[in-house]
Amino acid sequence: MRDQLPLGQPGPARTIHGNGIYSSSSVTRWASATLKLDQVLDAATAAIQHRFSYFNVSIFLIDKMSSDENKVVLRSVAGERAVPIQRGYRQAIGSGIVGRVAETGQILLVDDISQEPQDQSPVPTGPAGSELAVPIMKTINSEQVIGVLDVQDTEQGAFSQEDVKILKALADQLATTIENAELYEETQRHLDELTVLYQLARQINTSLNVQEVLDSIVWSLKQAMECRGCSIALLDPVDNALEIRSAAGVESKWKQDFKLRLGEGIAGRVALEGTSSYVPDVLEANEFIFFDTSVRSLLTVPLTLQQRVIGTLTVDSDQPDAFSAADERLLTIAATQAAVAIENARLYASLEQRAQNLAEAYAELKKADRIKDEIVQNVSHELRTPLTFVKSYVELLLDKDTGPLTAEQQAYLEIVVEKTNVVTQLVSNIMALQRAEQMPSSRKPVSLTKLARQAVRGYSTRAKKAGLIITENMPDDSPPVAGDEDKLLQVFDNLLDNAVKFSPDGGQIVVTVEDAGQTVQASVSDQGIGIPKDQQEQIFERFYQIDGSARRRFGGVGLGLAIVKRILEAHEGRVWVESNPGQGSTFYLTIPKYQAPHI
Ligand code: ADP
Repeated sequence: MRDQLPLGQPGPARTIHGNGIYSSSSVTRWASATLKLDQVLDAATAAIQHRFSYFNVSIFLIDKMSSDENKVVLRSVAGERAVPIQRGYRQAIGSGIVGRVAETGQILLVDDISQEPQDQSPVPTGPAGSELAVPIMKTINSEQVIGVLDVQDTEQGAFSQEDVKILKALADQLATTIENAELYEETQRHLDELTVLYQLARQINTSLNVQEVLDSIVWSLKQAMECRGCSIALLDPVDNALEIRSAAGVESKWKQDFKLRLGEGIAGRVALEGTSSYVPDVLEANEFIFFDTSVRSLLTVPLTLQQRVIGTLTVDSDQPDAFSAADERLLTIAATQAAVAIENARLYASLEQRAQNLAEAYAELKKADRIKDEIVQNVSHELRTPLTFVKSYVELLLDKDTGPLTAEQQAYLEIVVEKTNVVTQLVSNIMALQRAEQMPSSRKPVSLTKLARQAVRGYSTRAKKAGLIITENMPDDSPPVAGDEDKLLQVFDNLLDNAVKFSPDGGQIVVTVEDAGQTVQASVSDQGIGIPKDQQEQIFERFYQIDGSARRRFGGVGLGLAIVKRILEAHEGRVWVESNPGQGSTFYLTIPKYQAPHI
């Protein structure tokens, strides 16, 4: 709606009344109606144009979003000849009326536009006309121009000082409104960014598979940034080349062709320099290497991990100048997340590979160990018969059945018997070790009390000779355990053998058996030499003896406890020792109770 007054003439409708019409009139209502900047500006231009009947009202703002910071952009226009296409018109700062106001921050009133040959107004005002442009200054730092409020008229000299006052006041109000709207938009944008990043983080952390992580990054970003294509190229450290490893919205042919050396093309340079690069229009970029001709603008950021570039992340569009500074910021943060996710997945993959290698190496070792065991078993087996022969012939000689012996011959033969006994014990221990692991599939109920007593009986003479007292501390009978009687008897035999052997100064040996709930527990304790803490695990290993001289002092081959351990493991039981050097040792064992099979 236009005023009744002739165009451009200051008249009653544009006169300031009383306290000033803008504070109470519809002109200021734009400020509260919405917080969206474009809507605010449209409401403002429409209200000003309507209220003051200007031929044309425009609001320009300094371009902050694009890389081109020395332009003002027409953000809203209202008036008879305003058409929507004019929005977005860019005017260089310093040139034309609006551009000059944007540069100087000074009001400019031009009575005759025809005297301004360089001015390329987006709104044609006719051959002659006048224009008034007022800077919109930042409210806090009022030296800084954020935009220009511009009015035009088809006639020359249409604007008065009154118009200057009005527009100046309106520009001040606009500044506050624009800043509020921008603040709101900025907050909103941050919120949107955070949402995108949060969703990206959630999405990419659902998998530890490298390819799945890469795919989920490109697809999430393509969707979030509403772009044509998104791709990740990773740097191959061997040949220093970037290769596309995942892409969304990109033809597969292009993915295969893409290979850039470090420093080559946009991505190659981003990877080399570690800084992002924006190409608003590939047609104007010299170093652009075309893989896909539909790309017009693209934004590439480095994927960096601890200052080491591992690849690049690119979004592209088939439109020129499709990305803003905000997009670049978002992509940079996304790239940080992506790089960490990629590294995690890679580490996981290499851990998996290592675990697999270890498992294979372990299987190999176990196989080699088994083969070695088998050889030892076979050799031992083969030794048994000749040893029996040696021993019986020597005993024949010693019995003097074959004739008298000199004292020297007798002494030598006794050494042969002694050494043969050691080898025989070794062979039978090796055989016992092998048998320890073999368990019958059905286990019988076995009384540990009965076995313990049997073993104690077997050692009583030896103990007495050594000045030792063996005490039994056990109930009349204990709940049965599931197992093999011969093997479990061997467990007590071996433990008692050690208790007697390693108690050189006599003392007491106590054997206990007790009900321990799910299991039956037994123990053999002595007051002998004891075992240092750091060796209480190793003594259960094959051929382990605490000190090399022990063999000479106490005899034995270091297999007794290994046999005990294997027998107990085959019974799903456990053995351990508690000991203090010089005070004695207690060996404990537990075995699960026998469960009658369900019929
Ligand atoms: P061996 O008794 O034939 O040497 P074992 O496997 O039975 O082999 O025992 C391994 C080592 O553990 C022994 O050589 C000894 O050093 C230590 N050991 C075992 N039982 C006792 C014990 N009751 N007191 C002190 N040391 C012991």
